[in-house]
Amino acid sequence: ELWDACAAALKQDLTGAEYSTWIMPLQAQEQDEAMCLLAPNRFVKDWVKQHYEQRISRLCAEISSGRIQQVRFEIGTLGDDRAAPVTRGTSGGRAGGEGNLDRRRAESNLNKEFTFATFVEGKSNQIARAASVQIGKNPGTAYNPLFIYGGVGLGKTHLMHAVGNTILDSNPGAQVIYVHSERFVSDMIRALQHNKIDEFKARYRRVNALLIDDVQFFGNKDRSQEEFFHTFNALFESKQQIVLSSDRYPKEVSGLEERLKSRFGWGLTVGIEPPDFETRVAILHSKAALLNIELPEDVGYFIAKRMTSNIRELEGALRRLVANSQFMGASIDLAFTREVLRDMFVAQDRQITIENIQKTVANYYKLRVSDLTSAKRTRNIARPRQVAMALAKELTKASLPEIGNAFGGRDHSTVIHATRKIEALRASDTMIEEDYRILLRTLTS
Ligand code: ADP
Ligand code: MG
Repeated sequence: ELWDACAAALKQDLTGAEYSTWIMPLQAQEQDEAMCLLAPNRFVKDWVKQHYEQRISRLCAEISSGRIQQVRFEIGTLGDDRAAPVTRGTSGGRAGGEGNLDRRRAESNLNKEFTFATFVEGKSNQIARAASVQIGKNPGTAYNPLFIYGGVGLGKTHLMHAVGNTILDSNPGAQVIYVHSERFVSDMIRALQHNKIDEFKARYRRVNALLIDDVQFFGNKDRSQEEFFHTFNALFESKQQIVLSSDRYPKEVSGLEERLKSRFGWGLTVGIEPPDFETRVAILHSKAALLNIELPEDVGYFIAKRMTSNIRELEGALRRLVANSQFMGASIDLAFTREVLRDMFVAQDRQITIENIQKTVANYYKLRVSDLTSAKRTRNIARPRQVAMALAKELTKASLPEIGNAFGGRDHSTVIHATRKIEALRASDTMIEEDYRILLRTLTS
């Protein structure tokens, strides 16, 4: 076809990003002596006209041996035709204009913050992440559909956006739609009311990648399921990527037709589990870095220890902490964190007791608890005792006299001395620092 040849010639002249951003989305329609180029929106149309009109006109005339006399530019797409298939691999790279790519993301409902770079990998999400990375790189050819299931706040939505963002990064011309299934349902109802169901259908069946979140909301919505069934088939047959998420395994989504359930399982089904302690800590630090906050290690442990099941809550705790520290001009340390987040985890806080600390410290240094509470002052006992006191000060709400009392009836000034000593030693003696951190971690995790 004439336009294909013309586009191929343009490709020689342009960078990959220019080509995929401006030329690939164009569709051509020949009308006698004129070639009409359809752009998906005004922005693309104006840009192409401004930058490439002359070149395109000349090429068209040359390649058609003078038959094409005129090139026109319009906004639109060809009938019910699918957008040009995603070209994979080498073409593209980042779009020349970041602004344009941002626009493409917005049109696709994609949140640009949700990328693989900001997604912390752990055992709990490793497979789901790996599968999503593959889909991002090879949409339509790796697994279809990709079905991600798992509990609330574990990263399903984040991964779906990351897939969409990756596809657009390497091919800004790709048609990607992210949509929550509730939105799909309400859009469809509105389309029905306004006699625009054909447009609705066309919109979804034209895409290169359709990301539908929380499909459990399709449960018992028969008309939507019917429509989605056909969309699914159309995309599947033409090898366009489908990514779905749900709070449970496809077969267990209730109120869903069998034919959809079975289709959902045709590709790859991956689960996300609640993150383990290490991953929670890593996520906190990663989110803190995004907020430009330096999160002390012990604070990370402290929060990760207490928020175990849901990453959204973990993030909520961090945001609250940061907001409070900025508002009050306070630095984020353990005491401040405990204070600010107190109501989020009163129950767990009671678990760290002085007794608990004494046992843990004694065990760590291979001593007996009675050594710590005894009057013995030899170094190998006195130092662990000071460590235990400092930990008690840091991790419990006990007052200085209470702590002193718990260590064989010592005076509160002894406790102060111990905490100061340990603080100084932690800064100068790496052994002590390491001991202290390990203990802190054991106690808070
Ligand atoms: P879901 O869709 O499973 O309910 P989300 O994808 O909305 O969960 O995740 C909730 C929040 O937790 C989001 O802000 C997301 O960025 C964050 N999050 C989830 N998993 C991770 C992860 N592995 N690394 C970084 N952030 C994560
Ligand atoms: Mg979600």
